[in-house]
Amino acid sequence: VAQVGVLALQGDVREHLAVLRGLGAEAIPVRRPEELATVSGLVIPGGESSVIDKLSRLFGIAEPLRARIAAGMPVYGTCAGLIMLADTVLDSITGQQSLGGLDVAVRRNAFGNQNDSFETDLDIPELGEPAVHAVFIRAPVVESVGPRASVLASLPDGRVVAVEQDNLLGTSFHPEVTGEHRFHERFLDRVRAAA
Ligand code: GLN
Repeated sequence: VAQVGVLALQGDVREHLAVLRGLGAEAIPVRRPEELATVSGLVIPGGESSVIDKLSRLFGIAEPLRARIAAGMPVYGTCAGLIMLADTVLDSITGQQSLGGLDVAVRRNAFGNQNDSFETDLDIPELGEPAVHAVFIRAPVVESVGPRASVLASLPDGRVVAVEQDNLLGTSFHPEVTGEHRFHERFLDRVRAAA
């Protein structure tokens, strides 16, 4: 695979780099537009979306990144990264912007205090067996899915927690912390196909 990146402004960057490298990809942290220009795909990690948003504008990478997303670069966002990819963010902090690309509305911190963090198994037909063990940490939920996006996974109560659209993939949960590699493989497949 061509070189891929992990957006390294804030959040669990190291975990994603480790998964990608474990799958045989050359993966680098990306902070600056010059680094973005050298990668063929990007993971946006979990963390705090309002901070990632602020820093991405401060580092001047938000606009080049929007352009790459619009041009079809494969991107995988987990948790805060999913929020960054959403066209609409609900319960955002004042002035918070997303990069957009995914035709969805995502609500931040949708599980409230009681359920700040939880784990559950998800059956995801596209990924086959076994079920995905999903860890949610102050996670967002996909509240509405527009016609261009499709649902990849939902909780038993119907709440949508994974979506994809063309070269974009987003999960509310964190596969990078549980040894679950199928989402990263799916992302790398897209990178290979786009090359
Ligand atoms: N609550 C965070 C946010 O709004 C996301 C949490 C996470 O990435 N684990 O960005």
